[in-house]
Amino acid sequence: MYDAPIQDSYDCVVMGGGPGGSATAALVAEAGYSVLLVEREAVPRFHVGESLMPETYWSFERLGVLDKMRDSDFVKKLSVQFVSHSGKESSPFFFEKHDPRENSQTWQVERGAFDQMLFDNAAEKGAQCRDKTRVQSVLFDEDKATGVELGLEDGTTKQVAAKVVVDATGLSALLANRLKLKQEYEHLKKIAVWSYFKDAERDPGPHGGATIILHTKMKDSWFWFIPLRDNITSVGVVGNRDYMLDGRTSPENTFAEELELCEAMQRRLANATQVEKHRVAREFSYTTTKQAGDGWVLVGDAFGFIDPIYSSGVYFALKSGELAADAIVEGLKMEDVSADQLGKWVADYSSGTQWIHKLVDAYYTNEFSFGKFLKMHPQHIGHLTDLLIGRIFHDTAGDIFDEMEPAMAEAVKMSGMDAAAEMPKPETSDDSMSKPSILGRLFGKLFGSK
Ligand SMILES: Cc1cc2nc3c(=O)[nH]c(=O)nc-3n(C[C@H](O)[C@H](O)[C@H](O)COP(=O)(O)OP(=O)(O)OC[C@H]3O[C@@H](n4cnc5c(N)ncnc54)[C@H](O)[C@@H]3O)c2cc1C
Repeated sequence: MYDAPIQDSYDCVVMGGGPGGSATAALVAEAGYSVLLVEREAVPRFHVGESLMPETYWSFERLGVLDKMRDSDFVKKLSVQFVSHSGKESSPFFFEKHDPRENSQTWQVERGAFDQMLFDNAAEKGAQCRDKTRVQSVLFDEDKATGVELGLEDGTTKQVAAKVVVDATGLSALLANRLKLKQEYEHLKKIAVWSYFKDAERDPGPHGGATIILHTKMKDSWFWFIPLRDNITSVGVVGNRDYMLDGRTSPENTFAEELELCEAMQRRLANATQVEKHRVAREFSYTTTKQAGDGWVLVGDAFGFIDPIYSSGVYFALKSGELAADAIVEGLKMEDVSADQLGKWVADYSSGTQWIHKLVDAYYTNEFSFGKFLKMHPQHIGHLTDLLIGRIFHDTAGDIFDEMEPAMAEAVKMSGMDAAAEMPKPETSDDSMSKPSILGRLFGKLFGSK
Protein backbone atom coordinates (compact mmCIF):
# COMPACT_ATOMS: atom_id res chain seq x y z
CA MET A 1 0.00 0.00 0.00
CA TYR A 2 1.47 3.31 -1.05
CA ASP A 3 -0.36 6.03 0.78
CA ALA A 4 2.13 8.83 1.26
CA PRO A 5 0.34 11.99 2.42
CA ILE A 6 -0.22 14.42 -0.41
CA GLN A 7 1.07 17.99 -0.03
CA ASP A 8 -0.55 20.97 -1.69
CA SER A 9 2.43 21.62 -3.90
CA TYR A 10 5.55 19.93 -5.26
CA ASP A 11 8.54 20.77 -7.37
CA CYS A 12 7.60 17.88 -9.61
CA VAL A 13 4.56 15.64 -10.04
CA VAL A 14 5.12 12.45 -12.04
CA MET A 15 2.02 10.79 -13.49
CA GLY A 16 2.35 7.02 -13.95
CA GLY A 17 4.32 4.45 -11.96
CA GLY A 18 5.87 2.44 -14.81
CA PRO A 19 9.62 2.38 -15.51
CA GLY A 20 9.58 5.84 -17.11
CA GLY A 21 7.78 7.54 -14.23
CA SER A 22 9.69 5.76 -11.48
CA ALA A 23 13.06 6.54 -13.09
CA THR A 24 12.21 10.23 -13.44
CA ALA A 25 10.82 10.48 -9.91
CA ALA A 26 13.80 8.71 -8.36
CA LEU A 27 16.38 10.97 -9.98
CA VAL A 28 14.56 14.27 -9.34
CA ALA A 29 13.94 13.27 -5.71
CA GLU A 30 17.54 12.15 -5.31
CA ALA A 31 18.63 15.65 -6.32
CA GLY A 32 16.72 16.98 -3.33
CA TYR A 33 13.49 18.23 -4.93
CA SER A 34 10.01 17.40 -3.70
CA VAL A 35 8.38 14.80 -5.94
CA LEU A 36 4.96 13.14 -6.00
CA LEU A 37 4.74 9.93 -8.04
CA VAL A 38 1.17 8.77 -8.67
CA GLU A 39 -0.01 5.48 -10.14
CA ARG A 40 -3.68 4.79 -10.83
CA GLU A 41 -3.46 1.01 -10.30
CA ALA A 42 -2.63 -0.90 -7.14
CA VAL A 43 1.13 -1.58 -7.13
CA PRO A 44 2.27 -4.17 -8.15
CA ARG A 45 0.16 -4.09 -11.27
CA PHE A 46 0.21 -6.42 -14.25
CA HIS A 47 1.95 -5.22 -17.42
CA VAL A 48 3.06 -6.76 -20.69
CA GLY A 49 6.66 -6.34 -21.91
CA GLU A 50 9.01 -8.63 -20.04
CA SER A 51 12.12 -8.80 -22.19
CA LEU A 52 14.82 -6.19 -21.58
CA MET A 53 17.51 -4.82 -23.86
CA PRO A 54 21.09 -5.18 -22.56
CA GLU A 55 21.64 -1.41 -22.52
CA THR A 56 19.19 -1.06 -19.62
CA TYR A 57 22.27 -2.00 -17.57
CA TRP A 58 23.44 1.62 -17.49
CA SER A 59 20.04 2.89 -16.35
CA PHE A 60 20.03 0.33 -13.54
CA GLU A 61 23.48 1.53 -12.52
CA ARG A 62 22.40 5.19 -12.59
CA LEU A 63 19.24 4.45 -10.61
CA GLY A 64 21.17 2.43 -8.03
CA VAL A 65 19.25 -0.80 -8.63
CA LEU A 66 21.93 -2.83 -10.38
CA ASP A 67 22.66 -4.88 -7.26
CA LYS A 68 18.95 -5.54 -6.82
CA MET A 69 18.83 -6.83 -10.37
CA ARG A 70 21.95 -8.93 -9.85
CA ASP A 71 20.54 -10.38 -6.62
CA SER A 72 17.09 -11.01 -8.10
CA ASP A 73 15.94 -14.37 -9.40
CA PHE A 74 14.70 -12.89 -12.68
CA VAL A 75 15.68 -15.18 -15.55
CA LYS A 76 18.96 -14.10 -17.14
CA LYS A 77 18.71 -13.19 -20.81
CA LEU A 78 22.06 -13.83 -22.42
CA SER A 79 20.99 -14.39 -25.99
CA VAL A 80 18.31 -14.06 -28.65
CA GLN A 81 17.28 -16.39 -31.43
CA PHE A 82 15.22 -16.11 -34.58
CA VAL A 83 13.19 -18.79 -36.28
CA SER A 84 12.24 -18.32 -39.91
CA HIS A 85 8.82 -18.86 -41.44
CA SER A 86 10.11 -22.15 -42.84
CA GLY A 87 11.10 -23.27 -39.34
CA LYS A 88 14.83 -22.79 -39.71
CA GLU A 89 16.34 -21.93 -36.34
CA SER A 90 19.26 -19.50 -36.19
CA SER A 91 22.21 -20.13 -33.95
CA PRO A 92 21.66 -18.51 -30.58
CA PHE A 93 23.19 -15.06 -30.53
CA PHE A 94 25.00 -14.46 -27.26
CA PHE A 95 25.45 -10.73 -26.58
CA GLU A 96 28.72 -11.34 -24.74
CA LYS A 97 30.34 -12.51 -27.95
CA HIS A 98 29.99 -8.97 -29.22
CA ASP A 99 31.05 -7.40 -25.94
CA PRO A 100 32.28 -9.61 -23.07
CA ARG A 101 31.45 -7.11 -20.30
CA GLU A 102 28.72 -7.67 -17.72
CA ASN A 103 26.49 -5.13 -19.44
CA SER A 104 25.92 -7.60 -22.25
CA GLN A 105 23.64 -9.67 -20.11
CA THR A 106 20.19 -8.66 -19.10
CA TRP A 107 16.99 -10.11 -17.64
CA GLN A 108 13.48 -11.32 -18.45
CA VAL A 109 11.25 -9.67 -15.87
CA GLU A 110 7.71 -10.09 -14.65
CA ARG A 111 6.69 -6.49 -14.97
CA GLY A 112 4.61 -6.42 -11.80
CA ALA A 113 7.62 -7.21 -9.61
CA PHE A 114 10.14 -5.31 -11.73
CA ASP A 115 8.08 -2.12 -11.92
CA GLN A 116 7.38 -2.31 -8.20
CA MET A 117 11.12 -2.53 -7.52
CA LEU A 118 11.58 0.72 -9.48
CA PHE A 119 8.57 2.33 -7.75
CA ASP A 120 10.07 1.41 -4.37
CA ASN A 121 13.40 2.80 -5.49
CA ALA A 122 11.74 6.14 -6.21
CA ALA A 123 10.29 6.08 -2.67
CA GLU A 124 13.70 5.20 -1.22
CA LYS A 125 15.21 8.19 -3.04
CA GLY A 126 12.64 10.47 -1.41
CA ALA A 127 9.69 10.63 -3.82
CA GLN A 128 6.24 10.47 -2.22
CA CYS A 129 4.62 7.51 -3.91
CA ARG A 130 0.89 6.90 -4.19
CA ASP A 131 -0.86 4.06 -5.92
CA LYS A 132 -4.60 3.80 -6.58
CA THR A 133 -4.48 7.51 -7.37
CA ARG A 134 -5.50 8.65 -10.82
CA VAL A 135 -4.54 11.91 -12.43
CA GLN A 136 -7.80 13.22 -13.80
CA SER A 137 -6.41 16.25 -15.51
CA VAL A 138 -3.39 18.47 -15.81
CA LEU A 139 -4.01 22.03 -14.70
CA PHE A 140 -2.85 24.81 -17.00
CA ASP A 141 -2.46 28.55 -16.72
CA GLU A 142 -2.70 29.40 -20.42
CA ASP A 143 0.04 27.19 -21.94
CA LYS A 144 1.92 26.55 -18.73
CA ALA A 145 1.23 23.41 -16.71
CA THR A 146 0.75 24.34 -13.08
CA GLY A 147 -0.34 21.11 -11.41
CA VAL A 148 -2.73 18.19 -11.52
CA GLU A 149 -6.14 17.16 -10.28
CA LEU A 150 -6.04 13.79 -8.56
CA GLY A 151 -8.87 11.32 -8.14
CA LEU A 152 -8.29 9.60 -4.80
CA GLU A 153 -9.28 6.10 -3.80
CA ASP A 154 -12.07 7.36 -1.54
CA GLY A 155 -13.76 9.10 -4.46
CA THR A 156 -12.65 12.62 -3.56
CA THR A 157 -10.46 14.84 -5.70
CA LYS A 158 -7.50 17.00 -4.80
CA GLN A 159 -5.66 19.67 -6.73
CA VAL A 160 -1.90 19.73 -6.36
CA ALA A 161 0.39 22.49 -7.65
CA ALA A 162 3.64 21.57 -9.38
CA LYS A 163 6.49 23.46 -11.03
CA VAL A 164 6.91 20.53 -13.42
CA VAL A 165 4.40 17.87 -14.48
CA VAL A 166 5.83 14.71 -16.05
CA ASP A 167 3.56 12.58 -18.20
CA ALA A 168 4.67 8.97 -17.81
CA THR A 169 1.18 7.50 -18.25
CA GLY A 170 2.30 4.99 -20.90
CA LEU A 171 -0.10 4.25 -23.74
CA SER A 172 -2.77 6.33 -21.99
CA ALA A 173 -0.61 9.31 -23.02
CA LEU A 174 -2.74 11.65 -20.98
CA LEU A 175 -1.16 14.94 -22.07
CA ALA A 176 -0.44 13.95 -25.66
CA ASN A 177 -4.10 13.01 -26.06
CA ARG A 178 -5.36 16.15 -24.39
CA LEU A 179 -3.06 18.39 -26.43
CA LYS A 180 -3.60 16.31 -29.60
CA LEU A 181 0.09 15.63 -30.07
CA LYS A 182 -0.14 11.97 -31.13
CA GLN A 183 0.69 10.90 -34.66
CA GLU A 184 0.14 7.22 -35.39
CA TYR A 185 2.23 5.31 -37.91
CA GLU A 186 -0.39 3.93 -40.27
CA HIS A 187 1.79 0.99 -41.32
CA LEU A 188 2.43 -0.12 -37.73
CA LYS A 189 -1.07 -0.74 -36.43
CA LYS A 190 -0.61 -4.11 -34.80
CA ILE A 191 -2.51 -6.31 -32.39
CA ALA A 192 -0.90 -8.71 -29.92
CA VAL A 193 -2.54 -11.74 -28.31
CA TRP A 194 -0.60 -13.48 -25.57
CA SER A 195 -0.71 -15.78 -22.59
CA TYR A 196 1.53 -17.62 -20.12
CA PHE A 197 2.54 -21.26 -20.30
CA LYS A 198 4.11 -23.55 -17.74
CA ASP A 199 6.80 -26.04 -18.76
CA ALA A 200 7.30 -24.85 -22.33
CA GLU A 201 10.37 -26.45 -23.86
CA ARG A 202 13.52 -24.40 -23.34
CA ASP A 203 17.03 -25.03 -24.55
CA PRO A 204 19.30 -26.39 -21.83
CA GLY A 205 22.15 -24.22 -20.53
CA PRO A 206 22.75 -20.49 -20.89
CA HIS A 207 20.51 -20.14 -23.96
CA GLY A 208 17.52 -21.24 -21.89
CA GLY A 209 16.69 -17.63 -21.00
CA ALA A 210 16.75 -16.35 -24.57
CA THR A 211 14.04 -14.33 -26.22
CA ILE A 212 13.02 -16.22 -29.34
CA ILE A 213 11.24 -14.53 -32.23
CA LEU A 214 9.45 -16.92 -34.56
CA HIS A 215 7.69 -16.09 -37.80
CA THR A 216 4.54 -17.92 -38.84
CA LYS A 217 4.40 -19.73 -42.19
CA MET A 218 3.26 -16.88 -44.42
CA LYS A 219 5.06 -14.20 -42.38
CA ASP A 220 1.73 -12.55 -41.58
CA SER A 221 2.54 -12.63 -37.88
CA TRP A 222 5.34 -13.45 -35.47
CA PHE A 223 5.50 -15.02 -32.01
CA TRP A 224 7.55 -14.01 -29.02
CA PHE A 225 8.82 -16.60 -26.54
CA ILE A 226 10.07 -15.05 -23.30
CA PRO A 227 11.14 -17.41 -20.48
CA LEU A 228 10.24 -16.20 -17.00
CA ARG A 229 10.70 -17.54 -13.46
CA ASP A 230 9.08 -20.73 -12.18
CA ASN A 231 9.24 -22.26 -15.63
CA ILE A 232 6.57 -19.88 -16.91
CA THR A 233 6.97 -18.57 -20.45
CA SER A 234 5.29 -15.55 -21.96
CA VAL A 235 4.14 -16.37 -25.48
CA GLY A 236 2.47 -13.82 -27.72
CA VAL A 237 1.62 -13.37 -31.35
CA VAL A 238 1.70 -10.05 -33.21
CA GLY A 239 0.20 -9.14 -36.57
CA ASN A 240 -1.42 -6.31 -38.48
CA ARG A 241 -4.69 -5.17 -36.94
CA ASP A 242 -6.83 -6.18 -39.89
CA TYR A 243 -5.15 -9.56 -40.21
CA MET A 244 -5.59 -10.28 -36.50
CA LEU A 245 -9.22 -9.14 -36.33
CA ASP A 246 -10.96 -9.72 -39.65
CA GLY A 247 -12.96 -12.95 -39.71
CA ARG A 248 -11.67 -14.06 -36.31
CA THR A 249 -13.98 -15.30 -33.61
CA SER A 250 -12.01 -14.72 -30.41
CA PRO A 251 -8.49 -14.00 -29.15
CA GLU A 252 -8.18 -17.67 -28.16
CA ASN A 253 -8.95 -18.76 -31.70
CA THR A 254 -6.65 -16.16 -33.24
CA PHE A 255 -3.84 -17.45 -31.04
CA ALA A 256 -4.65 -21.07 -31.90
CA GLU A 257 -4.92 -20.33 -35.62
CA GLU A 258 -1.57 -18.59 -35.69
CA LEU A 259 -0.01 -21.38 -33.63
CA GLU A 260 -1.12 -23.78 -36.35
CA LEU A 261 1.12 -21.78 -38.67
CA CYS A 262 4.22 -22.05 -36.49
CA GLU A 263 5.54 -25.55 -35.99
CA ALA A 264 8.60 -24.41 -34.07
CA MET A 265 6.33 -22.83 -31.47
CA GLN A 266 3.99 -25.85 -31.44
CA ARG A 267 6.97 -28.02 -30.56
CA ARG A 268 7.97 -25.71 -27.72
CA LEU A 269 4.43 -25.73 -26.33
CA ALA A 270 3.69 -29.42 -26.92
CA ASN A 271 3.97 -30.37 -23.23
CA ALA A 272 3.15 -26.98 -21.79
CA THR A 273 0.06 -25.96 -19.84
CA GLN A 274 -1.57 -22.61 -20.35
CA VAL A 275 -1.82 -20.94 -16.94
CA GLU A 276 -3.36 -17.56 -17.74
CA LYS A 277 -6.19 -16.29 -19.90
CA HIS A 278 -5.38 -14.82 -23.28
CA ARG A 279 -4.81 -11.09 -23.25
CA VAL A 280 -5.02 -8.65 -26.13
CA ALA A 281 -3.15 -5.39 -26.65
CA ARG A 282 -3.28 -2.71 -29.27
CA GLU A 283 0.22 -2.07 -30.46
CA PHE A 284 -0.25 1.07 -32.51
CA SER A 285 3.11 2.75 -32.88
CA TYR A 286 3.01 6.53 -32.64
CA THR A 287 5.13 9.56 -32.12
CA THR A 288 4.33 12.95 -30.65
CA THR A 289 4.68 16.32 -32.36
CA LYS A 290 5.84 18.08 -29.19
CA GLN A 291 7.41 16.44 -26.16
CA ALA A 292 7.84 19.34 -23.73
CA GLY A 293 6.08 22.58 -22.97
CA ASP A 294 6.26 25.18 -20.24
CA GLY A 295 6.07 23.18 -17.03
CA TRP A 296 5.52 19.77 -18.64
CA VAL A 297 7.44 16.98 -20.32
CA LEU A 298 6.66 13.52 -21.73
CA VAL A 299 8.63 10.31 -21.07
CA GLY A 300 8.40 6.63 -22.03
CA ASP A 301 5.41 5.42 -24.02
CA ALA A 302 3.69 8.75 -23.39
CA PHE A 303 6.43 10.29 -25.54
CA GLY A 304 6.06 7.68 -28.27
CA PHE A 305 5.45 3.98 -28.75
CA ILE A 306 7.37 1.69 -30.99
CA ASP A 307 6.62 -1.86 -32.10
CA PRO A 308 8.12 -4.24 -29.49
CA ILE A 309 9.92 -6.58 -31.91
CA TYR A 310 13.30 -5.53 -30.50
CA SER A 311 12.20 -5.25 -26.83
CA SER A 312 13.12 -1.57 -26.70
CA GLY A 313 10.16 -0.13 -24.72
CA VAL A 314 11.40 -0.44 -21.14
CA TYR A 315 14.84 0.74 -22.15
CA PHE A 316 13.39 3.81 -23.86
CA ALA A 317 11.21 4.52 -20.83
CA LEU A 318 14.20 4.36 -18.46
CA LYS A 319 16.47 6.35 -20.74
CA SER A 320 13.93 9.11 -21.43
CA GLY A 321 13.16 9.19 -17.70
CA GLU A 322 16.84 9.75 -16.92
CA LEU A 323 17.26 12.46 -19.55
CA ALA A 324 14.06 14.25 -18.56
CA ALA A 325 15.08 14.11 -14.89
CA ASP A 326 18.42 15.76 -15.69
CA ALA A 327 16.66 18.56 -17.55
CA ILE A 328 14.11 18.99 -14.73
CA VAL A 329 16.79 19.13 -12.02
CA GLU A 330 18.81 21.67 -13.99
CA GLY A 331 15.66 23.67 -14.71
CA LEU A 332 14.56 23.71 -11.08
CA LYS A 333 18.03 24.83 -10.06
CA MET A 334 17.96 27.70 -12.56
CA GLU A 335 14.27 28.42 -11.98
CA ASP A 336 13.67 27.79 -15.66
CA VAL A 337 10.97 25.24 -16.41
CA SER A 338 10.36 26.47 -19.94
CA ALA A 339 9.69 24.17 -22.86
CA ASP A 340 13.24 24.74 -24.13
CA GLN A 341 14.78 23.72 -20.83
CA LEU A 342 12.57 20.70 -20.14
CA GLY A 343 12.88 19.46 -23.69
CA LYS A 344 16.58 20.10 -24.24
CA TRP A 345 17.34 16.36 -24.35
CA VAL A 346 14.66 15.49 -26.88
CA ALA A 347 16.62 16.07 -30.10
CA ASP A 348 19.52 13.81 -29.07
CA TYR A 349 17.18 11.18 -27.69
CA SER A 350 15.08 11.14 -30.86
CA SER A 351 18.13 10.94 -33.04
CA GLY A 352 19.13 7.77 -31.17
CA THR A 353 15.70 6.14 -31.07
CA GLN A 354 15.12 6.80 -34.78
CA TRP A 355 17.53 3.93 -35.52
CA ILE A 356 15.27 1.43 -33.81
CA HIS A 357 12.30 2.88 -35.72
CA LYS A 358 14.20 2.35 -38.95
CA LEU A 359 15.13 -1.18 -37.91
CA VAL A 360 11.47 -1.93 -37.23
CA ASP A 361 10.60 -0.67 -40.72
CA ALA A 362 13.30 -2.89 -42.18
CA TYR A 363 11.88 -5.94 -40.36
CA TYR A 364 8.45 -5.31 -41.83
CA THR A 365 9.72 -4.61 -45.35
CA ASN A 366 9.14 -8.09 -46.68
CA GLU A 367 10.99 -7.48 -49.91
CA PHE A 368 14.21 -6.63 -48.10
CA SER A 369 16.66 -9.27 -46.90
CA PHE A 370 19.04 -8.47 -44.04
CA GLY A 371 20.97 -11.63 -44.93
CA LYS A 372 21.64 -10.53 -48.49
CA PHE A 373 22.41 -7.01 -47.40
CA LEU A 374 24.97 -8.09 -44.83
CA LYS A 375 26.62 -10.43 -47.28
CA MET A 376 27.20 -7.41 -49.49
CA HIS A 377 28.08 -5.08 -46.60
CA PRO A 378 29.79 -7.15 -43.88
CA GLN A 379 31.24 -3.96 -42.42
CA HIS A 380 27.77 -3.27 -40.95
CA ILE A 381 27.47 -6.47 -38.93
CA GLY A 382 28.85 -4.76 -35.83
CA HIS A 383 26.57 -1.77 -36.37
CA LEU A 384 23.51 -3.98 -36.50
CA THR A 385 24.57 -5.86 -33.39
CA ASP A 386 24.99 -2.57 -31.55
CA LEU A 387 21.44 -1.60 -32.49
CA LEU A 388 20.05 -4.89 -31.20
CA ILE A 389 21.81 -4.42 -27.87
CA GLY A 390 20.44 -0.88 -27.69
CA ARG A 391 23.63 1.07 -28.32
CA ILE A 392 21.97 3.85 -30.25
CA PHE A 393 23.11 7.04 -28.57
CA HIS A 394 26.43 7.62 -30.32
CA ASP A 395 27.57 9.33 -33.50
CA THR A 396 28.00 6.29 -35.71
CA ALA A 397 24.91 4.39 -34.47
CA GLY A 398 23.04 4.92 -37.72
CA ASP A 399 25.88 4.30 -40.18
CA ILE A 400 24.29 1.09 -41.38
CA PHE A 401 21.32 2.99 -42.82
CA ASP A 402 23.43 4.97 -45.30
CA GLU A 403 23.53 1.80 -47.32
CA MET A 404 20.58 -0.10 -45.93
CA GLU A 405 17.87 2.42 -46.83
CA PRO A 406 18.83 2.57 -50.51
CA ALA A 407 19.02 -1.23 -50.47
CA MET A 408 15.51 -1.42 -49.01
CA ALA A 409 14.17 1.01 -51.61
CA GLU A 410 15.84 -0.98 -54.36
CA ALA A 411 14.40 -4.26 -53.05
CA VAL A 412 10.90 -2.80 -53.01
CA LYS A 413 11.39 -1.37 -56.51
CA MET A 414 12.69 -4.66 -57.89
CA SER A 415 9.80 -6.52 -56.34
CA GLY A 416 7.36 -4.05 -57.95
CA MET A 417 9.00 -4.52 -61.32
CA ASP A 418 8.80 -8.28 -60.91
CA ALA A 419 5.10 -8.02 -60.16
CA ALA A 420 4.51 -5.67 -63.09
CA ALA A 421 6.26 -8.08 -65.41
CA GLU A 422 4.16 -10.88 -63.93
CA MET A 423 7.30 -12.62 -62.97
CA PRO A 424 7.07 -15.18 -60.22
CA LYS A 425 7.89 -13.69 -56.82
CA PRO A 426 11.21 -14.52 -55.22
CA GLU A 427 11.14 -18.02 -53.77
CA THR A 428 9.92 -17.38 -50.25
CA SER A 429 11.05 -20.71 -48.92
CA ASP A 430 14.60 -19.50 -49.51
CA ASP A 431 15.74 -18.60 -46.04
CA SER A 432 17.94 -15.82 -47.35
CA MET A 433 14.73 -13.94 -48.12
CA SER A 434 12.91 -14.56 -44.88
CA LYS A 435 12.76 -11.90 -42.18
CA PRO A 436 13.32 -14.02 -39.10
CA SER A 437 16.20 -15.75 -40.80
CA ILE A 438 17.82 -12.46 -41.59
CA LEU A 439 19.26 -12.08 -38.17
CA GLY A 440 19.72 -15.80 -37.87
CA ARG A 441 21.95 -15.67 -40.87
CA LEU A 442 23.73 -12.68 -39.46
CA PHE A 443 24.33 -14.43 -36.19
CA GLY A 444 25.25 -17.64 -37.92
CA LYS A 445 27.72 -15.66 -39.94
CA LEU A 446 29.13 -14.05 -36.84
CA PHE A 447 29.20 -17.01 -34.53
CA GLY A 448 28.85 -20.10 -36.65
CA SER A 449 25.72 -21.92 -37.67
CA LYS A 450 24.10 -24.53 -35.52
C1 LIG B 1 2.27 -6.40 -26.67
C2 LIG B 1 3.43 -5.64 -26.13
C3 LIG B 1 4.63 -6.30 -25.89
C4 LIG B 1 5.72 -5.59 -25.38
N1 LIG B 1 6.90 -6.24 -25.14
C5 LIG B 1 7.96 -5.56 -24.66
C6 LIG B 1 9.17 -6.22 -24.32
O1 LIG B 1 9.30 -7.43 -24.44
N2 LIG B 1 10.20 -5.46 -23.84
C7 LIG B 1 10.08 -4.11 -23.65
O2 LIG B 1 11.05 -3.47 -23.22
N3 LIG B 1 8.94 -3.46 -23.93
C8 LIG B 1 7.88 -4.15 -24.40
N4 LIG B 1 6.71 -3.49 -24.64
C9 LIG B 1 6.63 -2.05 -24.38
C10 LIG B 1 6.68 -1.74 -22.88
O3 LIG B 1 5.69 -2.47 -22.21
C11 LIG B 1 6.50 -0.25 -22.67
O4 LIG B 1 7.31 0.44 -23.59
C12 LIG B 1 6.88 0.21 -21.24
O5 LIG B 1 6.04 -0.37 -20.29
C13 LIG B 1 6.80 1.74 -21.15
O6 LIG B 1 7.00 2.17 -19.84
P1 LIG B 1 6.28 3.50 -19.33
O7 LIG B 1 6.78 3.74 -17.97
O8 LIG B 1 6.40 4.55 -20.34
O9 LIG B 1 4.74 3.15 -19.32
P2 LIG B 1 3.93 1.98 -18.51
O10 LIG B 1 4.86 0.90 -18.12
O11 LIG B 1 2.78 1.66 -19.36
O12 LIG B 1 3.47 2.76 -17.22
C14 LIG B 1 2.50 3.77 -17.29
C15 LIG B 1 1.72 3.75 -15.98
O13 LIG B 1 0.89 4.89 -15.94
C16 LIG B 1 -0.29 4.53 -15.26
N5 LIG B 1 -1.30 5.53 -15.60
C17 LIG B 1 -1.94 5.68 -16.78
N6 LIG B 1 -2.81 6.71 -16.72
C18 LIG B 1 -2.72 7.21 -15.48
C19 LIG B 1 -3.37 8.28 -14.80
N7 LIG B 1 -4.29 9.04 -15.40
N8 LIG B 1 -3.02 8.52 -13.50
C20 LIG B 1 -2.09 7.76 -12.87
N9 LIG B 1 -1.46 6.74 -13.47
C21 LIG B 1 -1.75 6.47 -14.75
C22 LIG B 1 -0.59 3.15 -15.77
O14 LIG B 1 -1.44 2.43 -14.91
C23 LIG B 1 0.80 2.54 -15.85
O15 LIG B 1 1.13 1.82 -14.70
C24 LIG B 1 5.59 -4.19 -25.13
C25 LIG B 1 4.39 -3.53 -25.36
C26 LIG B 1 3.31 -4.25 -25.85
C27 LIG B 1 2.01 -3.53 -26.10
